[in-house]
Amino acid sequence: MTTTAAQSVPAVSSHTPEQTPTAESTPQRQNLLGMSREQMEAFFLAIGEKKFRASQMMKWIHHEGCDDFAAMTNLSKPLREKLAKVAEIRGPGVVYEGASNDGTRKWVLEVEDGSYVETVLIPADNGKRRTLCVSSQVGCSLDCSFCSTGKQGFQRNLTAAEIIGQVWVAQRSVGPRRDSGNRPVTNVVMMGMGEPLLNYDNVVPAMKLMLDDNGYGLSKRRVTLSTSGVVPMIDKLGDDIDVSLAISCMRPTMNYALNWCRLTASIISAA
Ligand code: SF4
Repeated sequence: MTTTAAQSVPAVSSHTPEQTPTAESTPQRQNLLGMSREQMEAFFLAIGEKKFRASQMMKWIHHEGCDDFAAMTNLSKPLREKLAKVAEIRGPGVVYEGASNDGTRKWVLEVEDGSYVETVLIPADNGKRRTLCVSSQVGCSLDCSFCSTGKQGFQRNLTAAEIIGQVWVAQRSVGPRRDSGNRPVTNVVMMGMGEPLLNYDNVVPAMKLMLDDNGYGLSKRRVTLSTSGVVPMIDKLGDDIDVSLAISCMRPTMNYALNWCRLTASIISAA
């Protein structure tokens, strides 16, 4: 959900970070950034290492913002060298970073195929709360009349790595938690470009990383998915992950809005 614009270029490559190849079969290095705890454990088992390496790696990536295996000093040198051959930690590229007088920070990020998405960090409560607004798709298929993202049409879903990569970039930019003692990002709202419930299979794993103690360790009250009202997926979301839900009553037309709000009210009263 957003009212921001974005640019894109035609797709030139594809990337599937959720697969877990072995060291022998890996045609290209595997991006570890978007891996859930389970995927990371499977990755380490597949390359002949112990499962507990997954926790170490997740802390380096998500707590420290590290993308260099050579700097991971609690891993043995042979393991670091092996990882450099079969894996990588690759976040979105920062095309633009800007800050306004009120402390709001904005990043324009280049993702895998050269498309651009936006991420915004909004301070509140005298800087105690820093809420990151994260995108879930390049473009959007819903075309709400007030929204410039909808005008560009839908291009593709972001991968889990591209979604969590927005949190990773913001945290690296603001500074790791150990530097200030504070969390660089205290809250996340899935309210940037795209309708998150139409990219369910990538959004849910990324939000699990936001909640995971080895990821960003945010409480469920501090991670919010905002939807325009993809009703069938709302029930599924409740079964799969415990996060906050925000439902936008801004709809493409006023009649649509009124009908949708009546439908929502009837669902809630029947529950
Ligand atoms: S659902 Fe899509 S078109 Fe509607 S406000 Fe959100 S991003 Fe824009």
